[in-house]
Amino acid sequence: MTANVLFAAGAEQWAIYRSPLLDALDRLGVAARVATDFPADEVDYIVYAPGSAVQDFTPFTRARAVLNLWAGVEKIVGNPTLRLPLARMVDHGLTQGMVEYVTGHVLRHHLGMDAHILHQDGVWRPDAPPLARDRRVSVLGLGALGAACAQMLVTLGFPVTGWSRRPKEIAGLRCLTGEDGLGQTLAEADILVLLLPLTPETEKLLDAARLAFLPRGAVIVNPGRGPLIDDDALIAALDSGALGHATLDVFRVEPLPPDHPFWGHPRVTVTPHIASETRPESAAEVIAENIRRGEAGEAFLHLVDPDAGY
Ligand code: NAP
Repeated sequence: MTANVLFAAGAEQWAIYRSPLLDALDRLGVAARVATDFPADEVDYIVYAPGSAVQDFTPFTRARAVLNLWAGVEKIVGNPTLRLPLARMVDHGLTQGMVEYVTGHVLRHHLGMDAHILHQDGVWRPDAPPLARDRRVSVLGLGALGAACAQMLVTLGFPVTGWSRRPKEIAGLRCLTGEDGLGQTLAEADILVLLLPLTPETEKLLDAARLAFLPRGAVIVNPGRGPLIDDDALIAALDSGALGHATLDVFRVEPLPPDHPFWGHPRVTVTPHIASETRPESAAEVIAENIRRGEAGEAFLHLVDPDAGY
């Protein structure tokens, strides 16, 4: 049987993904037609991205799975018409990009690079930074991205504490869970990295009370999702000097409006949701492998738990 794969991720992505996807399916020996249009009741798999024209999944009566092109699923997981298995994207190209972003921004703050990059003013400031072993980093979220970033930071010598919903053992880092674990993880964060998904449980996780657990002058790096942090509480903590800096890649509203106070804040760095992205060649392999699995009656990879929301 030839599977019908509906590419419902927009024209721009179709231009980028068409060839890698067809090549990947071919390499795996999967007989499939991939197109941006099929009668709904003839579709076997839906390749999806937020903003897709497909919002009602009810007509896709024979579809076996929705395969999300992105890691974050908060814009689809709560869709009441979605009864199909939903797979999210775990792509080694995406992971590598995130490891590079997080490592770069952690090293910027650890090494105090701004002091030398921004102040070429003739003043000799001979303060050498401490070694990584003397800078504590915490990572909230130890999934595909958080765990990879934490491991790189461990490799560089940082003492790393990680926090996740379920208990974990990851070589080289201390892994904590629960509200007490969160308090400890925050209290030990000279630099805090957020790589949690956005769910009802994680929205505004970092409110004023939890931000107050962070050591004075701590730095936040957030490539997770904007609503993980209470923006007003963050600005208040930065204004008071309780926090030293926030490097933010993701926001409650994107693009971040030009008049948003984050843009001009001296203790905020805005990056425009570029921490990492799905890479077509490697991501197409993940999509193709899931279609192969579906056709072979095997379990899908990277399934989302609708109850947990990620
Ligand atoms: P993932 O593999 O699903 O991992 C999520 C992690 O968060 C897991 O460790 C999970 O715990 C933990 N978690 C979820 N809810 C929690 C809760 N209530 N309390 C404590 N821990 C909780 O996700 P991922 O692939 O690493 O991606 C993480 C997020 O990165 C995405 O959801 C997306 O928002 C963001 N992202 C951003 C960019 C960008 O360019 N800025 C790019 C890609 C992704 P368990 O391990 O116990 O399940």
